Amino acid sequence: MNGDGGLFEKGHVVCHCLAIETGDGLVLVDTGFGIEDARDPRRLGAFFGLMNAEPRAETTALRQLEALGFGAADVRRIVVTHLDPDHSGGLPDFPDAEVHVLSTELDAALHPVLKDRLRYLDVHWRHGPRWVRHDAGGDEWFGFESVRILPDLDAELALIPLFGHSRGHTGVALRGGDGWLLHCGDAYFNHGEVGTPPSCPPGLRLFQSLNAADGSARKSNRDRLRELAARHGEEVTLLCSHDPHELEREQARAAAATATG
Ligand SMILES: [Zn+2]
Repeated sequence: MNGDGGLFEKGHVVCHCLAIETGDGLVLVDTGFGIEDARDPRRLGAFFGLMNAEPRAETTALRQLEALGFGAADVRRIVVTHLDPDHSGGLPDFPDAEVHVLSTELDAALHPVLKDRLRYLDVHWRHGPRWVRHDAGGDEWFGFESVRILPDLDAELALIPLFGHSRGHTGVALRGGDGWLLHCGDAYFNHGEVGTPPSCPPGLRLFQSLNAADGSARKSNRDRLRELAARHGEEVTLLCSHDPHELEREQARAAAATATG
């Protein structure tokens, strides 16, 4: 599935979220699965059962933040790349947070067309999140369209629409001390896809084709990301949601940054 292990071994994927400390609380980029999903994985529906998803309470965003000394109320804002259950599962764990999302994605999830009815699960928004809609169209960012969000915050954050995987899928760009970090969500699944020359394990290639809302938009955005990595790799670090290698790489980078102060 992801190029490691044997043909009949289970593939290992992760849900890579970001927590950003600002002068006004934490911003979470994506939420992964939530506490209730870990308690009762059946609520994730047949698809995730089939995928052998194993949500665990200790790896939820909430429990990991608690281990760092934060509480649910410290997360004031959440930015979601899209609203698939493996990205929205933690929304009920932060019921008071604003949830920033592209309008196209919110409409697709709240009023799903027949094809999307199994994709979006309303168990993750029955509590009535404080949605904040954003519309595509705005500034230019390395050749991509970008929507600057939270302008009053001391963190520079922008949505970079990357439609295809879902109807209103977006990347989230964050400017850090040493350049930009672009969380690409599910715009690609394996680091090889944005490498030169590109590569992708066959299982993941098939999986992505099957569950794309718009296959040609997905491929063209993935190709644009590869070009971005090739041309601006010094200034922009790309990561996606489900690649365990990228998670390890970023955790090592964060640990090194903490060690050097
Ligand atoms: Zn996903």
